[in-house]
Amino acid sequence: MSVNRESTASGSHPVAPGLWEERWHPLREEWVIVAAHRQNRPWIGQTIASKPVSIPSYVEDCYLCPGNKRVSGRENPHYSGVFVFDNDHPCVGPDAPLTLKTPPGLYRNRPANGVARVVCYNPRHNMTMAQMTPEQIAGVVGVWQEQTLDLGHRPEVNFVLCFENKGEMVGVSNPHPHGQIYATNFVFKTMETEVQAARRYQGESETGQNLFQDIIRAEQTEGSRILYEDEFSIAFVPYFARYAYEVYVAPKRTVPHIHALDEREVQSLAQALKSVTVRLDNLWQMSFPYVMALHQAPTDGGNYDFHHFFIGFLPPLRQPNLLKYLAGPEIGGGNFLSDTSPEAKAAELRAVSDNVHYLQTLQLNNPES
Ligand SMILES: [Zn+2]
Repeated sequence: MSVNRESTASGSHPVAPGLWEERWHPLREEWVIVAAHRQNRPWIGQTIASKPVSIPSYVEDCYLCPGNKRVSGRENPHYSGVFVFDNDHPCVGPDAPLTLKTPPGLYRNRPANGVARVVCYNPRHNMTMAQMTPEQIAGVVGVWQEQTLDLGHRPEVNFVLCFENKGEMVGVSNPHPHGQIYATNFVFKTMETEVQAARRYQGESETGQNLFQDIIRAEQTEGSRILYEDEFSIAFVPYFARYAYEVYVAPKRTVPHIHALDEREVQSLAQALKSVTVRLDNLWQMSFPYVMALHQAPTDGGNYDFHHFFIGFLPPLRQPNLLKYLAGPEIGGGNFLSDTSPEAKAAELRAVSDNVHYLQTLQLNNPES
């Protein structure tokens, strides 16, 4: 049988300079293929083609703005800080049907119990986390603490997932800055995987080393991927990043849940969140889309002292107007192919201001103006 194929002899394809290797993701216990040798164009200084649109601070038909009516008919109070309410279209909730059709064979089902809430970060329709003050962000952190403590205490709740979907690219049409909370009867898969990895790491290391503490130490040793660091918090593009601009924001002290952080740690975490979100927005002078999630331990009554709470930012863009498409390796195979080097992406984020938001210089959508 004759098969036409290209020569695969070594040396027939000259390797372009750029990172090309596999990196171990210690939290997910899986390999990430880093194939950055295929994309060497620098994007520092690039901005998106479209000009920023001016978004008003109040929108009449926004269901999250103060005083407005929601689909449920309920009216939002004239809130001034963070505002939390039960999601009007919950995916898990106390009203989920209790009587279910029994599936055949090995299939299983159960009621979709839980609580789904919406967290409005502030009353201003146009003020994202990057534009909030560290004090205002600390208010959001405080609500995450209260909600995790409150919902986590419920016997039917085994996990509290606090997250934010930001931007149309991740399916959010309403720009009013808000996050969500899903308190579920199961532990979300990512966190279950991470908890097991941390438990195994601690058990297998002779000295009982903490997995995330070792990650922090490794990041500090190299230093080049760190975006923010103070006495209590650190933010970095992890060595094993799956997404181009993936960022972890973490307290330095190992605590399984966010509510274990003290006042100074909360202030520091808020400062780190401010720094990271400003850098992301400043990179291409756009409101940077991302999925952000709090990686906490389960609330099922188990002992998770070894689990290190952190916040993960997963932005879908790898270039301005170019999404990272999840395809064969990611959806088909379940492992990530990263087209970029974490060091190069961290360098881009380190090169922009973490202090002055670009809209402040444009005097557009500036809450202070
Ligand atoms: Zn609004």
